Amino acid sequence: MTTEVKRHCPTCKSEEQHRHVTPKESHWLRTEHDVTFTNDWWRCKREGCRTIRYYHAESQNHQLPEGFDDD
Ligand SMILES: [Zn+2]
Repeated sequence: MTTEVKRHCPTCKSEEQHRHVTPKESHWLRTEHDVTFTNDWWRCKREGCRTIRYYHAESQNHQLPEGFDDD
């Protein structure tokens, strides 16, 4: 089952595949940005991009710190 969605990334400034945030990223959102419900947060899958955004509003987005790089 795929849990990806194509959304606009505010950093790449293009339509990119996004995946659900991982538990680690979810924890970071909760502790650093007081996000209580992280199910609607998606991460851009483009190589080198660490942008996560709220599904319903691109203006709500955050840059993950180093150490959150994808494989
Ligand atoms: Zn991106």
